[in-house]
Amino acid sequence: MIDVVFFDLGDSQGSTETKDQYDMVIIGGGPAGLTAAIYASRGGLDTLVIEKSSEGGQIAATEKVENYPGFISIDGLELAEKFSDHARHFGATISNRGVRNLTFCCDKKTIVMDDSSEIEAKTIVIATGATHRKLGVPGEKEYEGKGVSYCAICDGAFFRDKHVAVIGGGNSAIDEGLYLTQTASKVTVVHRRDKLRADKILQERAFNNPKMEFVWDSVVEEVQGDAFVNNLVLKNVKDGTQSDFPVDGVFIYIGLVPNSALLKNLLQTTHDGFIKVNPVTFETSLPGVFAVGDVIDKELRQIINAAADGASAASSAIKLYF
Ligand code: NAP
Repeated sequence: MIDVVFFDLGDSQGSTETKDQYDMVIIGGGPAGLTAAIYASRGGLDTLVIEKSSEGGQIAATEKVENYPGFISIDGLELAEKFSDHARHFGATISNRGVRNLTFCCDKKTIVMDDSSEIEAKTIVIATGATHRKLGVPGEKEYEGKGVSYCAICDGAFFRDKHVAVIGGGNSAIDEGLYLTQTASKVTVVHRRDKLRADKILQERAFNNPKMEFVWDSVVEEVQGDAFVNNLVLKNVKDGTQSDFPVDGVFIYIGLVPNSALLKNLLQTTHDGFIKVNPVTFETSLPGVFAVGDVIDKELRQIINAAADGASAASSAIKLYF
């Protein structure tokens, strides 16, 4: 028997009536989990999605989505709502409670909820996504919520007519940096190399935006301030020089950490915790347990392939276990 403290997902936020047995329980209600729910419930499975916070996952905190087929441009929250409405339409239940732990014993898979109630599942889909990686430098933690942020949509409005730095050179950094130019007076991207990793279309927009500037080949050594952030200590990685960089806020987008920490010893994962799955069935190393979306080991992390993972996992589960 494997008994694992999975994660404490915090306080309940509203609740949806749940039963104590389901054909499929999906943990995580982002695009991957909700698409698994659409396919599972439409395929006749009694399906529960457990999502502790916002239905739609990261897209609910995304200003605009421009690369999901069928929508040239759609508000992230609106797309998130469409995903959950679609899952509910085919009969999936979405519960906003939290999971405390998972117990796998013999053929039995039990989800222990944060109120200690237990739900049994014939199959489980892990769709817990990933969270923003931290820099791990002095001052980052201390100034979180006081000028250090990981969410431009949530906190951008606090920086109207201010100068902010965005750390990172990937799609998130450039997407969110562009969003911040709508309110901030200046957005400086600080990147550790002299080339961005972001898609070319985003790079072009950033280079053409008069409010965006770039500091290349540099990393943050320390976040400093008084009551609020007012300075970054930067190090040029080419010549090793340190300099002060006065800013009013800093948005950190340096990649993702999978929400799988406590599953690591149960399921096969990469060294950095991304869950390994069969690339066709999306089944993990534990039979009947599937994983999809940003929490798995894969190359491309987009809404479209998160949704595709969910569809494949649910279809495989139906074929293999029902
Ligand atoms: P990412 O693509 O992994 O990029 C992380 C960036 O942070 C890279 O530029 C990396 O530098 C830099 N970095 C990593 N560790 C660092 C450190 N310790 N100090 C300073 N810089 C560091 O992560 P992401 O931008 O969060 O995107 C995650 C996934 O979501 C990607 O697959 C992305 O394509 C996808 N996404 C897509 C969209 C879209 O399609 N519009 C939007 C958002 C996210 P290097 O380049 O030198 O490695």
